[in-house]
Amino acid sequence: MPAKVSNFYAGPAILPEPVLQQAARDLLNFQNLGMSLIEISHRSKEFTAVIEEAEALLRELLGVPQNYRVLFLQGGASSQFFMIPMNLLRKDQLASYLNTGVWSNKAIKEARLFGQVAVPWSDEANGFVRVPKDSEYTADPKSEYLYFVSNNTVFGTQFPVMPQSDLMLVADMSSDILSRPVDVSKFGIIYAGAQKNIGPAGVTVVIIREDLLDRASDSVPTMLKYKTHADNDSLFNTPCTFAVYCVGLVMRWLKEQGGVTEMERRSKKRSGILYEVIDSTDLYQGHAAKDSRSTMNVTFHLPSKELEEAFLREATAQGFVGLKGHRIAGGCRASIYNAFPLEGVEKLADFMRAFAKKHG
Ligand SMILES: *Cc1c(COP(=O)(O)O)cnc(C)c1O
Repeated sequence: MPAKVSNFYAGPAILPEPVLQQAARDLLNFQNLGMSLIEISHRSKEFTAVIEEAEALLRELLGVPQNYRVLFLQGGASSQFFMIPMNLLRKDQLASYLNTGVWSNKAIKEARLFGQVAVPWSDEANGFVRVPKDSEYTADPKSEYLYFVSNNTVFGTQFPVMPQSDLMLVADMSSDILSRPVDVSKFGIIYAGAQKNIGPAGVTVVIIREDLLDRASDSVPTMLKYKTHADNDSLFNTPCTFAVYCVGLVMRWLKEQGGVTEMERRSKKRSGILYEVIDSTDLYQGHAAKDSRSTMNVTFHLPSKELEEAFLREATAQGFVGLKGHRIAGGCRASIYNAFPLEGVEKLADFMRAFAKKHG
């Protein structure tokens, strides 16, 4: 086993240790078949059991209602930026997007290729330091849906509670899915690239209300229609079998650990420890406004480039890896997803305090 470091990468990101151990065994010999998990047909009865279990556990953990389908797609979360409007929006129809960061901006750009887009709230001018309260914007009631990003991975902001609206909600939950309970019935679509919170890169989970499957026009290519994947139980073509399998293992782990309410408790505890350091020392400047702070990505700056570089260098030397902020936001970012152990956060907090004492 390699020496363990504290892995703060934003994605692909840390996975639970027992999941990696099981995956390592099954990579060589899956269920004593004498073949690797990644060598078997996606239509074999063994893989069918894998994908069915992954879906069943995800449904159970998130409380997905019967009238929703769960799809395992490829193309990353980024492909959903265009698949959603391509399937749900016609040229003369309107959709409303809350602009809270890099990922919503990209989704807005793609949506404009397919229909009319309104942006009733944006924090771009302020550098994306917060998310709106429901009372701060009015989405046009003619909108087909209200789109938002529940956790802004790059800037470290998060909706403390999901927006309430009479409109159908559509959400990118790539970086906080399964980190807290959510009322799925308020959403038309919830989607998440797996590589932040629920698995390795290569699969995107899409939870879609059944009646939306028939919305796409005939001109949408077969592979890009949600209906194609729903009608074929995500096996229209070869799915990313390894990633789907790992998501299943993560679902098992999540259930053993106590499910999403336990994940919410842990994430508040973990992030609270780091925000406490930021608030109680002068050296660290939190990026997010206090009422919009993310429990998943803790973003902060130091007063100078030199100090930031020294901080990252010393942190890396002490086994805290992946703390460099996103290239667009700069600064530092500690990504602490579901699988991140509390002790690692406590150790980073100790390191940050010691560094502040030395350089403050
Ligand atoms: C990482 C991320 C994406 C992009 O995911 P890809 O799978 O790389 O396309 C989209 N949205 C959010 C919120 C993310 O964190």
